[in-house]
Amino acid sequence: MSKDKTICITGAGAGIGRGTLLHFHGLGWRVAALDKDEDALAELARLLPGERCLTAVCDVGQEAPVKQAFGALTDWLDGDPLTCLVNNAGIADPFCGPLDELSLAAWQSWIDASLTAAFLCSREALPLLRRAEQASIVNISSTRSRMSEKDTFAYAAAKGGLDALTHSMAVSLGPRIRVNAILPGWIVTQPWQKERERGEPDLRPVDHAQHPAGRAGTVEDIARTVEWLAEAGFVTGEQVVVDGGMTRKMIYAD
Ligand code: NAD
Repeated sequence: MSKDKTICITGAGAGIGRGTLLHFHGLGWRVAALDKDEDALAELARLLPGERCLTAVCDVGQEAPVKQAFGALTDWLDGDPLTCLVNNAGIADPFCGPLDELSLAAWQSWIDASLTAAFLCSREALPLLRRAEQASIVNISSTRSRMSEKDTFAYAAAKGGLDALTHSMAVSLGPRIRVNAILPGWIVTQPWQKERERGEPDLRPVDHAQHPAGRAGTVEDIARTVEWLAEAGFVTGEQVVVDGGMTRKMIYAD
């Protein structure tokens, strides 16, 4: 069996996860995609036929399916190490409505898809990551862990928890396993959806211009940051903001 590097990405059926998976496949890595969307994974498997890609349908917020998916990953690796786990899955829409109307079930869906999933997948990945001399976990958080729009309680709390889980895992799992978080800002994902949901981004010039970097983010911006963190041997426990400067910008009313 080859000793190539291997990356496992949750929520890899669409958006940032899909683009990052294709980026690493292009770099020559073996890639494992976990997603609850069966159609999206089937499309990915058609796009990347062959031994270098594994797909596993799995709700990463639920314990039993996660154990099953990591069982399949363990078989596929056949004794080789997992080099990098990216906990990317999450409910992308942050808006949950007013607090006094937010049900416990709705709250839990944001927490499970992002925070609980990162705990479950990291735990199951540990024996595979520990086979490597140097391995890492990258958690896809959000700038919304630091600042908010109205009515985004569960999303913000899930991402804040993910930031804390990141430094807690970093001090516990080192030195062999580094753990970092990426906090994306506004990332355009329409071109990275599965075929029948794919679209062109519908951004106004002002949407780009409000970023100090002059544009909204791309999936490639995040994929390249994951690539850097996967190799950055002296970086652990960090939260890397990739937002074109939006959270550095002061806003005053006219
Ligand atoms: P997306 O909706 O395009 O893709 C998310 C993928 O995750 C989908 O394929 C979906 O099926 C999968 N998924 C969701 N819940 C799952 C679960 N419980 N189990 C398995 N798979 C699940 O979203 P995106 O915009 O690419 O977001 C990816 C991550 O990046 C999310 O964690 C999101 O919070 C974060 N993020 C996105 C942005 C942005 O602007 N797009 C900004 C900040 C953070």
